[in-house]
Amino acid sequence: MLTGKIALVTGASRGIGREVALTLAANGAIVIVNYNGSKERAEEVVKEIEAAGGSAEAVQCNVADFQASEEMVKNILAKYKKVDILVNNAGITKDNLIMRMSEEDYDAVMDTNLKGTFNMIRHLSRSFIKQRSGKIINLSSVSGVLGNAGQANYSASKAGVIGLTKSVAREFASRGICVNAVAPGFIETEMTSAMSEEAQNGLKQMIPLGRAGKASDVAELVLFLAGKGSDYITGQVISVDGGMAI
Ligand code: NAP
Repeated sequence: MLTGKIALVTGASRGIGREVALTLAANGAIVIVNYNGSKERAEEVVKEIEAAGGSAEAVQCNVADFQASEEMVKNILAKYKKVDILVNNAGITKDNLIMRMSEEDYDAVMDTNLKGTFNMIRHLSRSFIKQRSGKIINLSSVSGVLGNAGQANYSASKAGVIGLTKSVAREFASRGICVNAVAPGFIETEMTSAMSEEAQNGLKQMIPLGRAGKASDVAELVLFLAGKGSDYITGQVISVDGGMAI
């Protein structure tokens, strides 16, 4: 159980982040539900947690913004005194072949997925180091491990998340803070439903377990990495992809 733990989940208004927030809360954590634009949906997540007897709060912040994320962290620390579990889940795609990829689409994906993860860890690092405990879980992707045609920006950002994870894991290890990445494969969310049916079917055929993943498949792994059972695991990239990256 995560009773008494404060968890901050970025991009928790929908998809994987929403499921992670619900799962951590169901296991006793007090959850801060970060969102960027989807205020109502984030508030629905909070209501769902409260209806189940848990505690949560929705907090708006664009994680790609260094100053705004610093401000969010300041406010959270002022109110809750600590963050025990940080889940860097906020992420976007702007797919295109590299020949047609605009500078704006490259920058936007890097800014949210990689810099957003840096911003959150950077601003919470002092607090984590002071408390000498904590769990940081970063969302990478099978695309960051294998690469994917049409996703040069996204794959680069998710490979970057792996390098960031391993470096911070080394920096924080002596303080008892575990930093790991999870690499989902094809998970049914709004992110993947935006893909063409052809692209979706092509990806599904690459899954040895024969089905697309659910947000709950990822949330169960995040729960494990947030809890005591994973205290001796750090700097790892754990796939949750039905065997896609075997
Ligand atoms: P999703 O359904 O599109 O949800 C994305 C979430 O991120 C939303 O809650 C969104 O909030 C939030 N977000 C986006 N930009 C943000 C920003 N700048 N600041 C704060 N929040 C922001 O995506 P998903 O499929 O659940 O994916 C979640 C994570 O898993 C991502 O990092 C993604 O790359 C990774 N992943 C997903 C898959 C998959 O198959 N679905 C596979 C591998 C990895 P607002 O709506 O409020 O903007």
